[in-house]
Amino acid sequence: MAKIIAIANQKGGVGKTTTAVNVAASMAATKRRVLLIDLDPQGNATMGSGIDKYEVDATCYELLIEDKPLEEVIIKNTSGKYDLIAANGDVTAAEIKLMELFAREVRLRNALAGVQDKYDFIFIDCPPSLNQLTVNALAAADSVLVPMQCEYYALEGLTALMDTIQKLASVVNPNLKIEGVLRTMYDPRNRLANDVSEQLKRHFGEQVYRTVIPRNVRLAEAPSFGAPAMYYDKSSTGAKAYLSLAGEILRRRNSQQAAAAKAS
Ligand code: ADP
Ligand code: MG
Repeated sequence: MAKIIAIANQKGGVGKTTTAVNVAASMAATKRRVLLIDLDPQGNATMGSGIDKYEVDATCYELLIEDKPLEEVIIKNTSGKYDLIAANGDVTAAEIKLMELFAREVRLRNALAGVQDKYDFIFIDCPPSLNQLTVNALAAADSVLVPMQCEYYALEGLTALMDTIQKLASVVNPNLKIEGVLRTMYDPRNRLANDVSEQLKRHFGEQVYRTVIPRNVRLAEAPSFGAPAMYYDKSSTGAKAYLSLAGEILRRRNSQQAAAAKAS
């Protein structure tokens, strides 16, 4: 069964898409079968996977609104060696159309039921708001990965986000877990970043990943090359950090599975 991880934070520009694309590629490089779902109408994860968002035959719009079969929506083996469900401007309409549909919160969850055994990991890149698309991601996911920048108001925003996630989850997905909090665009020379990072660890403890994603220009350049950073510059600190994150996600899953087996 695939583990489904939603990458969410209602703030824009915190590194959600960069994380989605690079963690998907890193996980695929460990020979896991990976599907990345772009749920953001901006289509940045699509472009960053080397797929032209203006040229795709189908996006998550067709999946969510028109019940198009998954096989017709999934783009196989993109530049990051994972499969992709694309997004583009059409997906903006999905948000509005979802409101008219029956069981609107669980459209994505139901759609994914058929591919759960075909993948080891499914990552969902969420839009920068808590709209119906994000609700669909949270309803479908096993857990949420929250990327954040260690800035002055970050903790406040994060506490609000966690509250919202918990409230939403209690309605649409009571089993939803916090997968982890990821520090992104980190500059260790910045004192404020270090202070916020310490507060974050005090507040969220083990939920904070040990892996820290540094500010690295290669991560910002890779999308224009149409591939995740590990295929653009595999020796870059950014590419290495995301490989390390994939390793940490795998170790967490193994220990969760071991704990579950022990409890049963
Ligand atoms: P979000 O999806 O949360 O809006 P993005 O992943 O698109 O955030 O990142 C916002 C911008 O910051 C993008 O231009 C991206 O290339 C850049 N960026 C993201 N992570 C890093 C990083 N670790 N180092 C340098 N630039 C980054
Ligand atoms: Mg994004």
